[in-house]
Amino acid sequence: MQHSEPLVIATYSRRMRLQLPGGEQVGARIKGKRLRPVCGDRVLAEPIEQEADWLITAIAERENELTRPNQRGQAEVMAANIEMLVVVAAATPEPDWFIVDRYLSAAEDIGAAAAVVYNKTDLDVDAPSTAQALDEYRAIGYPTLRCSATTGAGIEALGLLLAGKSAIIVGQSGVGKSSIINRLTGVEQLTTATISKKRGAGRHTTVNSVMLELPGGGRIIDSPGVRDYAPALVSLDRVGQGFREISSAAQACRFANCRHVREPDCAVKRAIDAGAISARRYESYKRLLNLTKKLSTKL
Ligand code: GDP
Ligand code: ZN
Repeated sequence: MQHSEPLVIATYSRRMRLQLPGGEQVGARIKGKRLRPVCGDRVLAEPIEQEADWLITAIAERENELTRPNQRGQAEVMAANIEMLVVVAAATPEPDWFIVDRYLSAAEDIGAAAAVVYNKTDLDVDAPSTAQALDEYRAIGYPTLRCSATTGAGIEALGLLLAGKSAIIVGQSGVGKSSIINRLTGVEQLTTATISKKRGAGRHTTVNSVMLELPGGGRIIDSPGVRDYAPALVSLDRVGQGFREISSAAQACRFANCRHVREPDCAVKRAIDAGAISARRYESYKRLLNLTKKLSTKL
């Protein structure tokens, strides 16, 4: 899509980097204290006289926003206008498929596509549950892909999957997200540490978030704060919508507000008994439902 507004491609607390519609990149400040642009935002901005910086005066309406709870339990926006969530799991650390399911449900919640990437195939130590989990994701329509950031296997296919999209990479710490990004972009990315060092001691200009251009087209957001975040919980009624196969089977439940736990005539439970819905995914659903119930006073 052709956009006429500048795009936020990096945030360093209150400083931003913008890509102008012509491709040029400029530094920017934000007008006022209330405006909180994030990577992926389209903004209104104008050059500041006698300065290299631009001034961001407004944020264009967002297609969606990815949020996580901050320390006070409020949702904090981390990135905007996400078209695809790339959820990474790996041979090590041992995959936690519940975490993958939770990210996938966050993608459903914001209306973004999602893909499951299984990294470190070179280690050749797949648990038996891995192939099954990946098959299950594929069966419900999520693209899945095996890769090795070390050997480069599968990275080209991942590039094709991301072509033309605005994506963000998430997953447990240590699964290889930064290694995958380095492979995809072909360059070693500046880490938070190297950037603050460059700016000199005493100035904390840590990168919150960067949006990197991919050689095959498309962009991927890399954000230390997003990488292994826990997605914000949705309201109880919406947990089921995060599991697309449960949400579609639920159409046939007797009760419109069926939570698929103890209700009679539940189409979801029938589908699980028939093997049409994965029992493992259903366990994830119940776990997220319980987690949400426990914390629902905050929602
Ligand atoms: P992140 O925390 O998800 O960003 O993970 P990193 O990219 O920092 O990688 C964590 C560790 O896994 C590092 O020691 C990497 O060298 C290693 N690693 C990443 N990708 C692969 C891979 O494909 N194969 C192997 N064997 N190790 C990998
Ligand atoms: Zn039901």
